[in-house]
Amino acid sequence: MLMDAAGYRESLRAYHPRVFVNGQRVESVADEPLLAPGINAVGLAYGLAHQEAHLPVMTARQTSSGKTVNRMLHINEGSGDLLAKLEAVRLVCKISGCAQRYLSHDALNALWQATALTDARHGTDYAQRFRAYLHEVQDKDLTLGVAMTDAKGDRSKRPGAQANPDSYVHIKERRKDGIVIRGTKAIVTGAPYMHEFLVMPCRTHVPGDEDFAVCCAVPCDAAGVTIVARPAGRPGDRAAKFSSQYGQSTGVVMFDDVFVPWDRVFLAGETEEGGFLTTSYATHHRHSCIGARAGFGDLLIGAGALMIEANGLDTERHGHVREQMVELIKITEGFFACGVAASVYCQKDPAGSVMPDSVFSNIGKLLLATQIYDMHRIAHYVSGGLIVALPGPDEDHNPETAASLSAVLAGRPDIPHAQRAEVARFIEDLTVSKEAGWYSVISLHGGGSPEAMKREIWRNYPVAEKVELVESLLGRGVLADGGRVSKQPGRCCVAGCEVPEMPGGAPREAAE
Ligand SMILES: Cc1cc2nc3c(=O)[nH]c(=O)nc-3n(C[C@H](O)[C@H](O)[C@H](O)COP(=O)(O)OP(=O)(O)OC[C@H]3O[C@@H](n4cnc5c(N)ncnc54)[C@H](O)[C@@H]3O)c2cc1C
Repeated sequence: MLMDAAGYRESLRAYHPRVFVNGQRVESVADEPLLAPGINAVGLAYGLAHQEAHLPVMTARQTSSGKTVNRMLHINEGSGDLLAKLEAVRLVCKISGCAQRYLSHDALNALWQATALTDARHGTDYAQRFRAYLHEVQDKDLTLGVAMTDAKGDRSKRPGAQANPDSYVHIKERRKDGIVIRGTKAIVTGAPYMHEFLVMPCRTHVPGDEDFAVCCAVPCDAAGVTIVARPAGRPGDRAAKFSSQYGQSTGVVMFDDVFVPWDRVFLAGETEEGGFLTTSYATHHRHSCIGARAGFGDLLIGAGALMIEANGLDTERHGHVREQMVELIKITEGFFACGVAASVYCQKDPAGSVMPDSVFSNIGKLLLATQIYDMHRIAHYVSGGLIVALPGPDEDHNPETAASLSAVLAGRPDIPHAQRAEVARFIEDLTVSKEAGWYSVISLHGGGSPEAMKREIWRNYPVAEKVELVESLLGRGVLADGGRVSKQPGRCCVAGCEVPEMPGGAPREAAE
């Protein structure tokens, strides 16, 4: 049964998580005003799955169960699914900014692949457990928080070498009936209003790291779980035209000796497959991030055009503002096109699902990670200074100033000042406020920092093929003679010839 937005909000009442926001204990997540914009945003991803016009992208048929599920919980079976997911994420994000639920999708798809791989290599039964869990999640239409990014401590040290072992979530005890985990996940989007968390490793591990290679599902109110979160968006702020309605909280999630039964454990010590799980999640998630930020681009393109109009300018006559708008469109559709290409050139996984192409997914995410700042700049360029200088909404009703402000701050004569002010506040909210900073930083670091994407592009791009192409054209035959040794990883050995060192001797690793 697919829930709608109201059903999702009500479903949160069945849980009693230990949540703190702004230093205060939250008694009822469903009723907490500081979390309302986040619940609205997640609710949107439920609500759109009931609207006729959006059914093709917002729902899908899960072959393994034969049931119709929310797109955000579906395991992709072909490039059509990936394109639909990309469109679905763009749709929910152009209305809500960030609806979180696609993170659930990305983790479920990565786990589908990783559990099958682990079983094939180790004779375990993770895939069977995971399928049972997946179908339960789909049937109950749950939203899962992705608890991947560990607190990490000193970035130059491996998990086991940290002064505080709780910097990384790890297995503290293995019991007959399950495992006990402890440690901290530092950044979890939507943490206070998730039904469950999927705890996943955030980096590659090596033998010796077995206790850190752990993946499991934990209800948000399991004994020992504490969530310390920020408010979602800018609740109660009347100047926040967008983020008083929609926005995401992020939470630190602490696991203090949390028991997890075996049927909820999907990886427990298999270090190499833990690395596969992390990378696979990153690829699915970067593909989703492309759709998400394209939705943000839609908001800026629309708001920029309205602001130009309210200022009395005409893009036909004033070429420099048109040029900026074209630049904004180029950026948005440029990285979105990478998402389309990643969907079209997807790869079939032995588990039966598909994976978006890694190079295109990583390039798209890398583009948006830095171009988000250009997107903000363009919105500022075409808008003018009003977006930071306009007096606050209280002045709109001040009998001593409202009328004269309205008269002198009007732009084009046929567009009322109030309308111009609305758009200016909308752009302020999305590009100047603290919420705007949130969108910048999630674009830069969410789904992994730029260095992680560059590594994946370099690791997966077939540079060797290009070298062979040129060499064959040049007719040199150098490779065949063994006369030149390539430094490209994988050409001479798996790791490449030179592993850069961090100061202090620790191997250089980019976190996911
Ligand atoms: C708004 C927001 C929402 C998020 N939501 C989620 C979520 O729902 N779930 C989740 O699991 N995560 C989430 N993340 C976390 C995100 O995945 C991380 O921010 C990202 O992986 C970077 O990790 P970090 O923040 O710890 O930064 P760091 O890893 O500290 O990186 C900071 C810089 O240091 C560099 N660096 C780090 N380690 C090394 C090293 N060993 N050697 C050399 N350079 C290094 C990085 O390349 C980067 O430039 C979210 C992040 C944001 C901003």
